[in-house]
Amino acid sequence: MHTVVVHYHEISLKRGNRPLFLRRLGENLLRAVGDLGPARVEQLPGRMVLRLDGDLEAGAIADRIGRVFGVANFAVAERTSPDMDALKRAVDRVTEGRRFESFRITARRAFKTSPLSSLEMNRELGAHVLARHPARVSLEHPELNVHVEVLPGQAFVYGDRRPGPGGLPVGSSGVVAALLSGGIDSPVAAWRLMKRGCRVTFVHFHSVPYLPDVSRGKARALVERLTAWQYVSRLYLVPFGEIQRAVVLAVPGPLRVVVYRRLMLRIAEVIGRSSGALALVTGESVGQVASQTLHNLARVDEVADLPVLRPLIGMDKIEITAQAEAIGTFGISIEPDADCCTLFVPKNPGTRASREEIDAVESRLDVAGLVTLGVTGAELETFDSPPGAGPMRPPSAAARGGAGRR
Ligand code: ATP
Ligand code: MG
Repeated sequence: MHTVVVHYHEISLKRGNRPLFLRRLGENLLRAVGDLGPARVEQLPGRMVLRLDGDLEAGAIADRIGRVFGVANFAVAERTSPDMDALKRAVDRVTEGRRFESFRITARRAFKTSPLSSLEMNRELGAHVLARHPARVSLEHPELNVHVEVLPGQAFVYGDRRPGPGGLPVGSSGVVAALLSGGIDSPVAAWRLMKRGCRVTFVHFHSVPYLPDVSRGKARALVERLTAWQYVSRLYLVPFGEIQRAVVLAVPGPLRVVVYRRLMLRIAEVIGRSSGALALVTGESVGQVASQTLHNLARVDEVADLPVLRPLIGMDKIEITAQAEAIGTFGISIEPDADCCTLFVPKNPGTRASREEIDAVESRLDVAGLVTLGVTGAELETFDSPPGAGPMRPPSAAARGGAGRR
């Protein structure tokens, strides 16, 4: 049996919604460790405790809980009674067999009911450790920090506390639809919204059969990777080649990219609404490429009624790349690919499309018809990470196209 003490911070700011956030966090924790065996969560004042049956590796537990948004930090702990003798024995078990030159005790009382103050507990337990180990106390930079959390009727003692990913529990902030290319930026943008508690539905535009079928595979691999953070995902694959052909026939080169992007947004909005999305998400950042100037971003925004969220808007490529590496999407994103927007893209994209120019060229297109073409051609695939973030399965055959086709 393992006891994991889970701390959250931001959730505690949410007053009225707090029970909802905590319930969601509890559900997500159970979902994340579901493959490790029977588990249950217990809500305690100011923290949550996850109980896991069986003999598990600490690494397996950490791997899963380290990807549950809303967790500020967590530790595999010993649960004991809150009297001083029991605390000393628990501290012995945490320090036993460990080599450390410096340590500290960090005692906290959830309620001031315990007879000893935190300071007194620190002193008494510290003296207890000093008597048994050739180590010194270091409050600033201890090699081992022994945490003691005293609650009414019980206490938790642990030595290694790990940081969680922070943020808010996925599912507590509503659904968003993210436009996912095969590139570096959009997976990071989607992840950042997951971290804010959103469940992300993915929309990818591909140019099969006009281009080799690479981008769909990358989109699937990216969604699979990201599903470890939200447990279930939906990916809509939208055929865009036909739409691009229509644009090429009607729209002069410099305006094409903005027109493509506007069509993508319109289609993503219809698909997103059908999944309950309250906003759209893109991986754009100001000035990164011609289609991402402030002028052109304004043209893109005009077509969507839902808010367009751009979590990377103020980040540069180096920062975005570092984040992509940290979440494990970078390696997939840099696989060679012919992005659908490289098809029929002019060498000299415009950087300052005006509203009048765009309206004029779009009036030559059957915009509503093209949007319908994209929406009806979209295929839905669903992804389900096995409970726990472990090795992820590919989507089931039934979930590909077929039954899921919209
Ligand atoms: P990324 O690395 O995310 O591809 P980028 O810097 O290459 O971004 P663009 O190609 O201009 O930028 O795309 C801007 C945004 O438009 C992307 O971040 C993504 O949200 C969306 N987008 C572009 N191409 C596609 C696509 N084929 N399918 C879905 N969304 C796309
Ligand atoms: Mg791109």
